[in-house]
Amino acid sequence: MNLYPVIPHPTQVLVYSMLLYCQAVYQRDEEVYGCICNTCMLNLLSNKQPPLSLSNNMWIGDIPDELSILSLPERILISIYYPAAYIIKLYLKRKGAQHWDTSVLNNGLRGNVSTYRLNTCDIASMVEGKFLPPSPSILAATIRVTIIGPKNLPECCMPSMLSVNQHRVRCALQFLKQENLLYEDVTISDENLSRLLENDIPVEIVANVKHSEETTKLEEEREGYV
Ligand SMILES: [Zn+2]
Repeated sequence: MNLYPVIPHPTQVLVYSMLLYCQAVYQRDEEVYGCICNTCMLNLLSNKQPPLSLSNNMWIGDIPDELSILSLPERILISIYYPAAYIIKLYLKRKGAQHWDTSVLNNGLRGNVSTYRLNTCDIASMVEGKFLPPSPSILAATIRVTIIGPKNLPECCMPSMLSVNQHRVRCALQFLKQENLLYEDVTISDENLSRLLENDIPVEIVANVKHSEETTKLEEEREGYV
């Protein structure tokens, strides 16, 4: 069977002996349905294992809660390596909006995140051996936020995806130290943890926020997608 896992794991759920992406499988009238792309279908029809199937050792299981709840800056703070910088553009959802409506701001904001390769040599100097989290200054080097649109977006309304919670970072590091071999030698730095906020957007990110009024360009871009 070409969708039977190469390496079975006790927590895998099989559907008729097939390892499938459960979120994409649904049941109707006691039958199980799902979608499959042409390439994978052709593989199966010629009795081959689709290279991108979960059964082909692509299964990593569910992301543990300790890690899945982390925000972008929190994920950077628990990382051993920093391959990318993140540029986040935030803009108003409503087309042509001329001012920030603070009552709906979090719902009224949209954004996109781009990643860029990072000059790792510059970053290496900020990271002290195997101590995690690193100094919060790593956030200033890896995250840039640009707010596009009318000025004076109250910074308190920046999205929660940018906030850091000291407790969540601690729990994630403790979890990784216990479960992930790469973190075995990591020492959790109480000093650096205490420099993180209880639950707020770090000053290292807020101080770097830029404003841009290029709304017209952005609207053209947006229209291109519709
Ligand atoms: Zn496919």
